[in-house]
Amino acid sequence: MKSGYIADIGLEVHAELQTQSKMFCGCPVLDSTRAEPNTAVCPVCAGMPGSLPVVNDQAVAFGLRVALALNCEINPVSQFARKNYFYPDLPKGYQISQYEYPLAEHGLLSVRTEAGWLDIRITRVHLEEDTGKLTHVHADDESYSLVDLNRAGIPLLEIVSEPDMHSIEQVLAYTRALRMVLQYLGVNSGDLEKGVIRFEANVSVRPDGSDILGTRVEIKNLNSFRTMTAAVAFELDRQTALLDAGGKVDQETLGWDEAAEVTVSQRSKEEAHDYRYFPEPDLPPLVISAEEIEAARKTLPERPDRKFTRFVSDLGLDAYQAEVLTTDRLVAEFYENTLNTMQKPDAVLAANWVSGELFGIINASGTALDSLPISPSALAGLLDLLQAGKVNNATAKTVLGKMVSSGREGLTIIEEEGLSQVSDREAIAEIVRQVLADHPVEVQAYREGKTALHQWFFGQVMRRMGGQANPGLVQELLKEYL
Ligand code: ADP
Ligand code: MG
Ligand code: ZN
Repeated sequence: MKSGYIADIGLEVHAELQTQSKMFCGCPVLDSTRAEPNTAVCPVCAGMPGSLPVVNDQAVAFGLRVALALNCEINPVSQFARKNYFYPDLPKGYQISQYEYPLAEHGLLSVRTEAGWLDIRITRVHLEEDTGKLTHVHADDESYSLVDLNRAGIPLLEIVSEPDMHSIEQVLAYTRALRMVLQYLGVNSGDLEKGVIRFEANVSVRPDGSDILGTRVEIKNLNSFRTMTAAVAFELDRQTALLDAGGKVDQETLGWDEAAEVTVSQRSKEEAHDYRYFPEPDLPPLVISAEEIEAARKTLPERPDRKFTRFVSDLGLDAYQAEVLTTDRLVAEFYENTLNTMQKPDAVLAANWVSGELFGIINASGTALDSLPISPSALAGLLDLLQAGKVNNATAKTVLGKMVSSGREGLTIIEEEGLSQVSDREAIAEIVRQVLADHPVEVQAYREGKTALHQWFFGQVMRRMGGQANPGLVQELLKEYL
C-alpha cells in the first residue's frame, strides 16, 4: 500500500455454532467435509412449503456466551428476519437471520499486537442459519453444480466489527483472537480448513490526516487467514494506487480469485432494501431474561486474553511462554492443573516442562495432548520428584517419555528401573577418583591450564554413573579433586 494513506478495515465473521442439531430443525450438525451429501436434511431445512422452524435453544445459549465474552450488551428482545434472495444453495428462497434487532450489540475485544493492546469495537452479534454447499463441476463435455444441503440450516453467528483495524497485522490479531475466544467457549472448533469460520472484509483507504472514511469494498468468502490477508493487502494496494492516480473507489462486492491472486468484482454493492427484510412470521421474538444472561455469564471460562495477562503478571511467565500456553484452552488448563497440584508450585518450571518437554513429545508423536495418557497430576508428581532431587533433569526427561508412552506413574518408573538420582557424596567421590586415576594425561593437561577439560571429566563421571548422578555434586567434587 502506498504511503500517505490510512487503511480502515471492518470484518464480518461468520462462525458456525457447533451445536447438536441445526438452527431451526432437528437435523444433526455434521462435519461437512466428511458426511455423505444430503444425509442431514428434513422438510424444514430443505425449505418445503408448510414446514415450520423452531429455534434451537443450544444455539441461542452458544450465541449468548460469545456475545457476553465479547462484552456486548444483550438485547432482551431480538427478532428473526427473512433476508430474501435467490440462490441454489438457499432452498427456502430466504435466509432466516436477524436484522433490526440483533441478539447483541456494542461489544469490545482487546487484542494483542506488537505495538500493544488494541481495542476492536464489536458492532453487533446476531444469529442466522448457514446455506447449503455448492460444488461446481467442470467435466470435459459438460458443466454442472452439485447441491449439498447438510450445511443448510446449521446455526451461524455473525460477528460484525467496526472499521477499527488499520493494518494486516491488526486484522490477523483480531481474527486469531476471535477464533481463540470461540474455541475457549466450546462453541466452535476453529478448524478453518473445514469452513467453520469464514470472513468478509470491508476495506477502504483515506488520505493521512483525513477523518472521513473512504468508500469501502466488501470482499466475500475469505476462508483462511492466508486468503484474507492476501485479499486485503491486494485491495489496499489497488485502492491507494487508484486514489494516487486521481481515480475513485467504487462501492462494490468483490470476490477473491485464488489462482490469479486478484479481487474480482461480483456485483455493485447490494443495499439492505434489496433483500426485502421483514420479520420472520413463523417465529416469535427471541426473549432473553436477565436471569438467563446472569446464569450464562457465570459459566463463562476465563477469556484467553485475560489468561495471558494473568500468566505474565501473576505467574511471571514471559510473553512467549504465556502465548504458547494460552493459545489452546486444553493446554492452558493442563498447565494450570499441573502447577496447582505441585507440592511446591513453580510456575516457570511447570511452564518449561509443558511447553518444552511435553510439546516436544506431542510434536514428535503427532498425538494431541488430550489423547496422551498423562494427567496434570502425573506431571506434577514428576516435577515434585525433580524438585526434591530424587531424579536429575536429564533423567526426568527420560522418565517423562516413558510416562507418556506407557501411561505409568513417574515414581513407579523410577523405582522399577532404578533411575533415582545418586546424591550419595561418597559414592560420587569414588567414581570421580576412578575417572581421574584412569586419565592421568588429561589431569595433567587440566592442571597446566586446559580448564575446558572440566566438562569432559563431567561427562565421563556421568556416563559411569548411568546419567543418574546429582550434577551439582559431580561438578563440586570434580573441582575439589582436580
Ligand atoms: P453490510 O450488510 O452492508 O455488509 P454490515 O453492517 O453487515 O453491512 O457490515 C458493514 C461492515 O463494513 C462492518 O464491519 C463495518 O465496520 C465495515 N465498514 C463500514 N464502513 C466502512 C469503511 N468506510 N471502510 C471499511 N469498513 C467499513
Ligand atoms: Mg456485509
Ligand atoms: Zn433439517
